[in-house]
Order: sequence, then structure tokens, then C-alpha cells
Amino acid sequence: MPFQTYDARTDRADLSVTGFVLDIDRFASHDGPGIRTAVFLKGCPLACAWCHSPESQRADPELVYQSRRCTACWSCIDVCPTGALSRGLHEGREFVVLDRTACTECGACTEVCYPGALTMAGRRVTVGELADDVVRDRAFFESSGGGITVSGGEPAAQPTFTYNFLAACRERNVHTALQTTGYARWEIVSRLSSAADLVMYDVKFIDDTLHHHYTRVSNRQILENLRRLVTEHDNVLVRIPCISGVNDSPEQIGDAARVLTEIGVTAVELMPYNAAAGAKYDWVGRSYAFADRETQTEEYMKRLVEIARERGLTVRAA
Ligand code: SF4
Ligand code: SF4
Repeated sequence: MPFQTYDARTDRADLSVTGFVLDIDRFASHDGPGIRTAVFLKGCPLACAWCHSPESQRADPELVYQSRRCTACWSCIDVCPTGALSRGLHEGREFVVLDRTACTECGACTEVCYPGALTMAGRRVTVGELADDVVRDRAFFESSGGGITVSGGEPAAQPTFTYNFLAACRERNVHTALQTTGYARWEIVSRLSSAADLVMYDVKFIDDTLHHHYTRVSNRQILENLRRLVTEHDNVLVRIPCISGVNDSPEQIGDAARVLTEIGVTAVELMPYNAAAGAKYDWVGRSYAFADRETQTEEYMKRLVEIARERGLTVRAA
């Protein structure tokens, strides 16, 4: 993608571009100002240990199984071509057992599972279909100062789709927000941001060793992109997900605030740990390493907010 920022006079969205969407959350209140429709895309180059949406990480659609929804009708077993599904019994309750090593994710079982225990996470849509869908919420956007938010996964992992969707929303006079990890080539971060009225930019660690350990990637490009972004975009909100016992010590938040101020960031949001983050790991056959963590107390978060304010940042507690 060539370096080029969005120009409302000349740029036109290509409504035929397709991408993979995980979910659409209407009436979202934590994804930007006002009432918003948040679109969550598939695919993320990071693998944060506390990710609350593990089914968003893979770029392609994947099979999700919620055993508590299974009514033991056994319809799926009959259509599975690989024998990956079998009858199970636990504490007197019957339900299907999924052997992921035998599953090819053909999706046949999802077509017959009416209770929604077996579903495919992720579907392909065009920019035009998605834009028409979200614009149905326009009345709520206008009455609340809201709009749409593109999130993930990582929107920059589908740059052409994300850019054209943001542009399509702008053409429909809808406020646009982008949530990003910033982990992409600068040209992509810059171009996507140019089509967003607000950029919500995640910073997890200042220490690169810790960043790599907990997310599997370096933070060098993320911090360098942020440094450049604040010089060309006037509405950047840095969001720090405060993970209990991982990156939320007063020293770490003070350090982050100092570095962010030096970079030129003016506004941050401190997000307390989401203790329900592990709920979906079972759905994709994975275990959650942070199950024993608790949300910070209100008093503790206030202390972190004060520390960041003392470093000169405008701080919003989520
Ligand atoms: S089709 Fe769905 S509800 Fe029926 S046995 Fe399979 S998983 Fe359970
Ligand atoms: S996705 Fe296909 S292979 Fe996998 S369990 Fe369902 S029917 Fe079987």
C-alpha cells in the first residue's frame, strides 16, 4: 500500500473489498464516545496472554464449541465427515465431545446445530454490506455523539478492508474510531488513522522484554509508530490495559506515563483488568493462564490515574 492519507475530496471507498468479521456489537459504550457500533475483525499478529477474545486471533474462520449449549440432539455427529464428534457424559449430563485433532473445520456440524453450541467464528463480508449494516444505527449515533469503531483482532491485519470500511462510513457522515495495537508498518498505521476521527492506540509495556514475553512481539515498531502518529493526528487516545501483577505496578505506570509524555502523547485511558477475560478459551480448546487474577480495586486504579496525571497526562479511568 503506498503512503497516502485519506482525502475526503478524492478518495472513494471500494465497496467490493471483502474481509473477515468476527462480531458486531451494537450499543457499545466502552469503545469510544457516545453510543457506538463496534465491528470486531478477525486476525491479530499479537498473542496477548490476557486476550479476552481468543477466537479473534486467527485470521480465518474457526470452529467454536460451547458445550453448555449442547442439548445432546446428536445431529452433528451424523454429518461430521471425520468422526471428530462423539457422545459424552459428565456428572449425569450428556453432551457432544469435540476432538480438535480430527476436526478439519469444514463447518458441516454448525449447519445442523440449532442451539448454537457449534458455530464458526468469523464470516466474510464486503465493505458495502458492512457499511449498510452499521449505518442502520445512525439515529443512535446522532443523538449520542457516537459512531462506529473498528476493533479486533487487529484491524491493521486487514488493512485494505479496514481502510475502505472507514472511508465508506465517512462518506456516510458517520464518526469513525479505530482501535489498534499499532503493530504494523508505519504506512498502514498512518493510512488507516487518516480515515479515523479517533485513534485508540494500545500500549501494554514500555519494557520490550516483557512486551515480547507476554504478547510474542516486540514493542519497538509500536512505540515508533505512536511517536509519528501523534505528530500527524490530533485525536489519539492511548489505552493501557492494566493487567493485575503484570504491568500495573505504580512504577510501571509511572514509567509508561513518562515515556508517553516524552513521545508527545497527551491523553491516556487506564483500563482495569477484566476478570471475565478467560471465559472464551474453552470455546476454542485452549486454557487461560490468567484465571487466578482479580480486577484491581477502585482505590488502586485511582492511585494509578494520579501517577499518570502527575506526569502531565490527561487521564481517563475506563
Ligand atoms: S448438534 Fe449441537 S446441540 Fe446437537 S449434539 Fe451437536 S453440539 Fe449438541
Ligand atoms: S467442523 Fe467439520 S470436521 Fe469439524 S467437527 Fe464439525 S463437521 Fe466435524
